[in-house]
Amino acid sequence: MIARRLLAPPPGWRRDTDVVVVGSGVAGVTTVLAIRRALPDARILLATKSVLDDGSTRWAQGGVAAALGPGDSPEHHLKDTLVAGAGLCDPRAVRALVTEGPGAVRRLIGIGAEFDREPSGPLALTREGGHLRRRIAHAGGDATGAEVSRALLAALAEAGSSAELDVIEHALAIDLLLSPDGRVAGLTLHVLGEGQTDGVGAVYARAVVLATGGFGQVYVATTNPPVSTGDGVALALRAGAEAADLEFVQFHPTVLWLGPDSRGRQPLISEAVRGEGAVLVDRSGRRFMTGQHGLADLAPRDVVAKAIMREMISSGADHVFLDGRGLGATMWEHRFPTILASCREHGIDPVTELIPVVPAAHYASGGVKTDLHGRTSVPGLYACGETACTGVHGANRLASNSLLEGLVFAERIAATLGRGLPAAVEPAARDDRSAGLLDPAVVNPLQHLMSARAGVLRSGDGLAEAAAGLAELGRHEFDKPDARAWQATNLHLVASAVVSVAQARQETRGSHWREDFGAESEAWRGHLIVTLGSSGLRSVFEPVLDD
Ligand SMILES: Cc1cc2nc3c(=O)[nH]c(=O)nc-3n(C[C@H](O)[C@H](O)[C@H](O)COP(=O)(O)OP(=O)(O)OC[C@H]3O[C@@H](n4cnc5c(N)ncnc54)[C@H](O)[C@@H]3O)c2cc1C
Repeated sequence: MIARRLLAPPPGWRRDTDVVVVGSGVAGVTTVLAIRRALPDARILLATKSVLDDGSTRWAQGGVAAALGPGDSPEHHLKDTLVAGAGLCDPRAVRALVTEGPGAVRRLIGIGAEFDREPSGPLALTREGGHLRRRIAHAGGDATGAEVSRALLAALAEAGSSAELDVIEHALAIDLLLSPDGRVAGLTLHVLGEGQTDGVGAVYARAVVLATGGFGQVYVATTNPPVSTGDGVALALRAGAEAADLEFVQFHPTVLWLGPDSRGRQPLISEAVRGEGAVLVDRSGRRFMTGQHGLADLAPRDVVAKAIMREMISSGADHVFLDGRGLGATMWEHRFPTILASCREHGIDPVTELIPVVPAAHYASGGVKTDLHGRTSVPGLYACGETACTGVHGANRLASNSLLEGLVFAERIAATLGRGLPAAVEPAARDDRSAGLLDPAVVNPLQHLMSARAGVLRSGDGLAEAAAGLAELGRHEFDKPDARAWQATNLHLVASAVVSVAQARQETRGSHWREDFGAESEAWRGHLIVTLGSSGLRSVFEPVLDD
């Protein structure tokens, strides 16, 4: 039985604010900065469960996509995004992304983000898989996320000198507080700190913005950091919100293979390396992407990830290779210093050697369903960044559109709040009957199960095994409410939701690949919307209606 609320001790303290933003990646921090511009007098509380720069944002390598170069336009960017999204993007959301994107990048530059430039001055733009134009702005070669995060956190520190902005690290959002008629009244937070807000407390607020990032930790091989446990999706579902497109998990085709026992976050070899000329080869040196797709090694991510998996299955190898020797030492040192350092740290020199690579869970295209202004189906609840499903990515995200999505939709949420904050409401009386908190020991078997049965290649039988395995893991209850147990319970809820919609979608589309339904089906051109009710998870199919 999946709990509708997490078991937590009664709140020991109370804080009052106007807006709570949960998460300090590109989405959360941009939202805070934008709300401060839109509503200078509003009180904002930014809560983040680890330290400020711990999230996917600082690991982003390739860059930020925006039509900033000569010969490019938002219209071209729109077309490439729609092609990658395999019929499921919301064109209105994509239009907002591509037309507001260039301004969002310029705003980031305005607060001090230093992107790489050509010797003559303009931004140095590169290409990545699925982009037909050079439109990826990058920083520090391949350290874009670190620079974006640095610039945003510097701006936050500057803004933080005001009494209206409270930033709390090591503060884990547990559950939303709701009024009797289902409006957001705030949330419960667990704070590991010293002072008046230690332990579990209640924050009363007029609006909550979830910017909690992705859920890569549902899988054993992932590029995501340990904080990416899908908390935002889980707590939104428990509050009655809709989630959409959860079956579309993007696997990055090329992370560094660290041996058969590697676990957790694995170093990513950005596809910008292929953009600059590296190619995938098998152990005999044969280029296996040629002839599989018009763009060969630069085909969309899912095409490349699946081709690698098939190559591995047919050859019995546990990895393939990326040959980047043709790039030369100078290109490696100046354009890809981070990847070069990671490879060398693990004993591989890409200047002279082949790089062993495998696919790993990388990006959640789906999430908490929002409208074009970041509003979820629960009044007062907003979602932004990877935790949200704005309709921008459809069945498959186009590379480097995610940092951009965080930047653009954060501004949209702030603009919406700027037009008027929701009314303050009182939370319903506390209901202590919830149970269903899970033993943190379920996390490891859950991750293995998900990678083996609900990963890059899926089938009805495999997914049924995943569902049965998750049901069994769901019986390992735990009665000690703490951060590990709350996150284990969130991972289990998100994994169960992913498997339920992956089972339901009997076709292959975008990053959802069914071995038993190998083709795209017009009947399935639509979205699976998941909710959590008193009888468990439920999904409804909403077809795409063409204008
Ligand atoms: C290795 C790697 C490379 C990538 N490269 C690129 C790229 O080149 N270009 C691109 O566009 N995208 C890239 N991406 C994707 C992109 O980085 C992410 O989608 C984006 O940074 C997500 O930003 P976010 O703000 O939504 O989430 P994150 O940056 O993940 O931030 C989430 C925040 O929420 C906090 N949090 C989570 N749960 C809770 C909770 N319960 N309570 C309180 N706080 C919580 C976390 O601690 C964190 O602060 C990459 C991702 C990875 C992992």
